[in-house]
Amino acid sequence: MEERGWEIFASEEDEPDKDSEVFFNPEMKLNRDVSEVAGHVFHQKIDVDDFRVCDALSASGVRGFRYSEYADTLHLNDINPEAVRRLKKGLRSNDVEAETFNDDANTHLSEHRNFYNFIDVDPFGSFTRFLDSTARAANHQSFVGLTATDNGPVSGSYPKVCRRRYGSKPLRNSLMHETGLRIYIKEVFQNFARFDKCFDPKICFQHRHYSRLMGRVTESKSRCNKSLENIGYMTFCTDCRWRTLERKSRCEYCSSSNVTYAGPLWTGSIGDQRFISDMIEKTPEEWSEALKLLETLNDEVQVRTPFYDIHKMASETNVQAPKTQDTVDRLEKKGYIVSKTHFESTGVRTDAPFEEMRNVIKSESTS
Ligand SMILES: [Zn+2]
Repeated sequence: MEERGWEIFASEEDEPDKDSEVFFNPEMKLNRDVSEVAGHVFHQKIDVDDFRVCDALSASGVRGFRYSEYADTLHLNDINPEAVRRLKKGLRSNDVEAETFNDDANTHLSEHRNFYNFIDVDPFGSFTRFLDSTARAANHQSFVGLTATDNGPVSGSYPKVCRRRYGSKPLRNSLMHETGLRIYIKEVFQNFARFDKCFDPKICFQHRHYSRLMGRVTESKSRCNKSLENIGYMTFCTDCRWRTLERKSRCEYCSSSNVTYAGPLWTGSIGDQRFISDMIEKTPEEWSEALKLLETLNDEVQVRTPFYDIHKMASETNVQAPKTQDTVDRLEKKGYIVSKTHFESTGVRTDAPFEEMRNVIKSESTS
């Protein structure tokens, strides 16, 4: 089997059924496309002679093969000896130079303190159990990519699991995916902050059943302290759908006390527009799914306000839902910053006041 020209020796399955199974998930191709480009852009932004990359949970090794384009030192690790055997085979057949390790990922990372410029952590389930060792191994100018495949708890399906695992209260409504991603970012930021390292999100997104977080890591107490301002809450009014990235006991639009909240979570941006536009330039034209995602994110990271679901807003105001594009155009004409969102095809992100948003939806549907 192959991906983007790299030969892979693994079985293609949705879930690994045995520990010995070497697993390759074709559904993660978009994740790997975006990650390869992000690492490339970061590599060009920092000036190091030896760019050290670690794929801590390598499995088939495909991520590592793809990062070999710009890695000076490449470490591929997997706890499963069969995986190491297969990824060695992959290294030979793809003519890639890398050092392989057959360790527990936490042990491997902890033994490489402040060593890496780019660490990839791509587990099944949550990345939380690898956060401490990743924070240890990330050096003072590094880049970290983390995948989580357990979106259920942070999206409100299992609120108790979310409390236990992430210390946050999730939401179960149209904003559940955005709050979920923000709970993940908070968790990563706080874990790095314990080591006086600052995680600065460069590109974070959700796709199907997984979330991907990528950010720059710097060793700076003052940056950490400044970013603490971005840890907070989201309040949502269940009567009128008003929302804010603050903790409020009453709706500031309709004065209802039927408000619910999520958090603590990350209230800052989920990405960096300059970084994402550099990524767009670096992405091959034929990687169309990655380009589409990057272009949406490039727009949506400009607006911090949580997105509005046009359909939900319309049914709340008892009107027929307008087309998403029409709502975007109308708000733009009024001079607001507005974009679609990767979270939801019927979602719109804008800095327009809530009242304006409601008016546009009402007038759109009657025009
Ligand atoms: Zn309200």
